[in-house]
Amino acid sequence: MATSIAAEIILIFSTMFIAVTIAALWFTFSASKLKHKKELEEKKMNIIDKHFNELLRIECPYCRTIYTANRSECPNCKANTKKILFPEIPTN
Ligand SMILES: [Zn+2]
Repeated sequence: MATSIAAEIILIFSTMFIAVTIAALWFTFSASKLKHKKELEEKKMNIIDKHFNELLRIECPYCRTIYTANRSECPNCKANTKKILFPEIPTN
């Protein structure tokens, strides 16, 4: 009788151990999958952003030169057009 109880306890413990191991493995697997998905999403967004900047054209307000948005300044007169793209709203 005593041996059967001991065997039952061992069985319960081993079942629990297996369950925990499977849960841990599953968690690690899903976490890595999620991280990979996030990385892919980030990569995709970077590509979209790059292409969008290449498609977007800025006209220099000083010399009327047309250039791509991935440049921070006018290639002709070196004017910084960031203020024109994102104008500062006066507070007073
Ligand atoms: Zn210019």
